[in-house]
Amino acid sequence: MIRETTAAEAQTWKRYSLASAGRELIGRSGGEPRVVAPPIGCIARTDAKAASRLLVRLLLCALIAGCGDRSGKTLELSGPTMGTYYSVKVARLPAGLSGEALQQGVTGVLAQAVAVISTYKASSELSRLNRNPSTDWIPVSRALLSVIAEGQRLSALSDGAFDITVGPLVNLWGFGPDVKIDEVPSRQAIAAAGARVGYQKLQLRASPPAVRKQRGDMYIDLSALGEGYGADQVAAYLDARGIGDYMAAVAGAIRVKGRNADGTPWRIAIEEPAPEGRTVSRIMHITDAGLSTSGDYRNFFKKGGRRYSHEIDPKTGMPVDQRLASVTVVRPTAVEADGLATALMVMGDTKGTALAKREAIAAFFILREGKGFGWESTAAFRRYLAR
Ligand code: FAD
Repeated sequence: MIRETTAAEAQTWKRYSLASAGRELIGRSGGEPRVVAPPIGCIARTDAKAASRLLVRLLLCALIAGCGDRSGKTLELSGPTMGTYYSVKVARLPAGLSGEALQQGVTGVLAQAVAVISTYKASSELSRLNRNPSTDWIPVSRALLSVIAEGQRLSALSDGAFDITVGPLVNLWGFGPDVKIDEVPSRQAIAAAGARVGYQKLQLRASPPAVRKQRGDMYIDLSALGEGYGADQVAAYLDARGIGDYMAAVAGAIRVKGRNADGTPWRIAIEEPAPEGRTVSRIMHITDAGLSTSGDYRNFFKKGGRRYSHEIDPKTGMPVDQRLASVTVVRPTAVEADGLATALMVMGDTKGTALAKREAIAAFFILREGKGFGWESTAAFRRYLAR
């Protein structure tokens, strides 16, 4: 979808975009409902009604983000990708570039990213790597190696809390491309899947690019990095066309550059992590950076009164269950922000905030406190918060 907003339209809306975590599906098979609610929209597995709701939300979001300039218009592009949606806003479009051409380019760039890193696409390079039973060096593209290498770097930094080889556990808990379950797997099943996990069981070779799996049945899941990687690829595409003022989002992973249409930094809202509804917790003013939010309040199922979310601790094989509800991270790239947000989410509030402070990571933590929420941010993050 291509749309231009004018100052008048923008004025009618509070001016910010929404950073949130997670996705939408309502499904059941026995047990309590498995509920996940749309970040601002995911259309992979929802029905037409949900898709139209999604488009309305996309429109809303497109209109909200950084408009209201005196001079002109903001070009917005949006559409489905990665089981969720992308949204791109361009202020001050260089002459000679058209919305149609940009839309085609952005769609192509994201399709290429999906063809490399998706576990939801059987023909993708990653799916072929996951199916390959060899424990010898397996040649891969530089693109795939770059994302896997970022995952390995974050695993070392987070002492294994972040681990891209967590795929067997993600699928076992029903948060992967396979069947959706809302049953707690048996201890034996968790132990068996856990035996296939461990980032140290994966070796990388830069030239010629290749990966070596210690076990042939290892399964790499790049979902925690994918949306950020997608946003960075779109940013690189826009940079190459001389566009200096944009916001490129794939669900909750966002890259911003330059200024919005009224010449001020892009405004991004951090969502309150309440499963129902959408309220804004904080507004950020940000430019020339990548950011992402991870949380356990959108993609989860409940069983026996306990919540089981898609954020999995690779060491215990269990979904994390804690006070920490969401983490928003700012880094130079969206892929790093995306991965770090998941890592800090899995580490929890104590270890997560300690790592963020030690590494001077700009991070904003929202914690459950009684019926409400509290928050904590690192010094590096405070500069982005609206005064
Ligand atoms: P994040 O916190 O960013 O990531 C959480 C995800 O990371 C979990 O869902 C799990 O997959 C993984 N994970 C869990 N624990 C850990 C850990 N400790 N360390 C590392 N990783 C962990 N979904 C669909 O429904 N349909 C699709 O067609 C589809 N296609 C996709 C294509 C691509 C290329 C990608 C990257 C994802 C796709 N998805 C699809 C998945 C979906 O978008 C994910 O749920 C999403 O990427 C998770 O992002 P998030 O921001 O919700 O959570």
